[in-house]
Amino acid sequence: MFKDYSFTAAERFLRYVCIDTQSDPQSSSFPSTEKQKVLSRLLVEELKQIGIMDAHTDAWGYVYGTIPANTRKKVPVICFCAHIDTAPDCSGTGVKPIVHKNYQGQDIVLPEDATQVIKMKDYPYLQTQIGNDIITASGKTLLGSDDKAGVAEIMDLANFLLTNKKNEHGEIKILFTPDEEVGRGTEKVDLKKLGADFAYTLDSGDAGSLEDETFSADAVQVIIHGVSAHPGYAKGKMVNALKIAGEILAALPKDRLSPESTKGRRGFIHPVRVEGIAEKCTIDFIIRDFETRGLKKKEDYLRTQIEELMRTYTNASFEFIVKEQYRNMKEILDKYPHVVEYAKEAIAKAGLKLKMESIRGGTDGSRLSFMGLPCPNLFAGEQAIHSKHEFISIQDMNKAVETMVHLVKIWSDRTPSEVEKS
Ligand SMILES: [Zn+2]
Repeated sequence: MFKDYSFTAAERFLRYVCIDTQSDPQSSSFPSTEKQKVLSRLLVEELKQIGIMDAHTDAWGYVYGTIPANTRKKVPVICFCAHIDTAPDCSGTGVKPIVHKNYQGQDIVLPEDATQVIKMKDYPYLQTQIGNDIITASGKTLLGSDDKAGVAEIMDLANFLLTNKKNEHGEIKILFTPDEEVGRGTEKVDLKKLGADFAYTLDSGDAGSLEDETFSADAVQVIIHGVSAHPGYAKGKMVNALKIAGEILAALPKDRLSPESTKGRRGFIHPVRVEGIAEKCTIDFIIRDFETRGLKKKEDYLRTQIEELMRTYTNASFEFIVKEQYRNMKEILDKYPHVVEYAKEAIAKAGLKLKMESIRGGTDGSRLSFMGLPCPNLFAGEQAIHSKHEFISIQDMNKAVETMVHLVKIWSDRTPSEVEKS
């Protein structure tokens, strides 16, 4: 199926990572950074070159496009989705990708900062990459494989399907989103315009991995109202909100319920920001659990802890504000088991071993699932994301393209031919 095809994912990827698309959590505009649109516009141009004539970008930087069906069967419309922005955690300016051909297990020293060394003992996944061609950054920035790998692979899928028209498939939608890394990737998406029945994000790591479960997530803001007074004359009057905040943080359990002490399916209560003065102090928490009722339990625990502490400060008060962030997409995906089943089959057809994973985080897919577009997450090959050690192999990228090609064929094969479009 692929022996006469020259994959284009890596070549595209090496160009896309040079465009700085870092998003900004402090920004209130949409997209959070204008520069993301530079990549959006390039992708539209390239989609048109491939032959996707309806490709376009909108005011928010989303990219939409359609690969027309080449069958008369009424195959559900499948969308492939990836995000164009890179994480705010690590610089994305001046990315210089390097291809390390035929990797043999050696340490990879990044040339622009020799203290940045990618070692197999730190990244055991490298054991699966002997003989492969590995792409890294140069030591000063992240690489941006999260999620420009997904973007490049979906572009290559389009290229493959439009140059190999014998592969039967239904209508396929392409969606690229801005601002995923700041949790706003689906905020302005137009699902009606997109018109897909089911979707897959390409935004996870190891070849063969498939994620159908994410955290459920809430944000909690605790606002402590103290009592301010001139510090020279504060005796018996001042209640310092900053000190109360310190006590609240110090009372959090250290050996459980925290990101530092949990893995697998255990959730946590995690303070992410403190801001304030003696009169008023705000603590922002994120709460995570795989079960929605587990979230509620953690919130009740936190509230009770604070209530008890506040009893000793009669003149102070507090607010406890819970905001829903996203929910475990499995709640939705369990209603459409074939969406995940077909992806498992496609991974097997690509010659890969399936790795089912639960995401200790959220994806655009979890939000899309709850917006009515069931959307598990397929691997894109990205490794050591959000860091200067980020890497990806060209071979894994090509496997992601193969997996999508198999997947669209499975969707078509499983649609009975008597159900023809008129
Ligand atoms: Zn990502």
